[in-house]
Amino acid sequence: MEKILVSACLLGDKTRYDGKDNFFPFIRTLNQKYDIIPFCPEVEGGLPIPREPGEIKGASIVTKDGKDLTKFYQEGAKKALALCLYFNIKIAILKDRSPSCGSRFIHDGSFSNKLIDGTGITARLLIAHGIKVYCENDNLEFLLKEPKSSFSSLRKTSRRSPNDKKTLNKKNR
Ligand code: SF4
Repeated sequence: MEKILVSACLLGDKTRYDGKDNFFPFIRTLNQKYDIIPFCPEVEGGLPIPREPGEIKGASIVTKDGKDLTKFYQEGAKKALALCLYFNIKIAILKDRSPSCGSRFIHDGSFSNKLIDGTGITARLLIAHGIKVYCENDNLEFLLKEPKSSFSSLRKTSRRSPNDKKTLNKKNR
C-alpha cells in the first residue's frame, strides 16, 4: 500500500506549540487507500510540547523574543525527508501556515498574525526532493480515486527514526 506522510496534528495528535491539534477529519478517510504516516517535524526535531512558537525570519526561525530555533526545525525537516526516502513516500499532506509544514502560506516573521506566500522548512525540503506536498486546504478528493489497496491503517505518532521500522508498525489507530 502506498504511504502518505501527514502532519500529525491534522490527524488529531496534540503536537502544536500550544498543546492542541489541528484535527482535519477528511484526512482520516484516506486510510481507505493509503498507509498514513503521522509526523510532526517540530517534535521530531527536538522541540517540546508546549513550546514557544517560531516564525521564519530570513534564513532563521526565531521566537518572538529572538531565540534562534533554526537547528530544531532543520533537524525535523531532515528526519521527515529521511523517512520519505526510506519508505519511498511520494506524497505529503502538511498543515498550512506552519513554519515547518506550510506549503502555501507562512507567517511573516513579525508575530502579528500576518500571512505571506511561502513554504515552511520541512515542506520546502520535501518539495526540493520531488515529493508532492499538499495542505489541508487543497482539494484532496482525487487521492481517493487512486487505485484501491487491500489494507489500511492510521498509525500513532511517536518520536522515531527511519531506522525504527518497528515503531511505525506498532499500532493502528
Ligand atoms: S510542526 Fe507541523 S505537524 Fe507539528 S504541530 Fe506544527 S503543523 Fe502540526
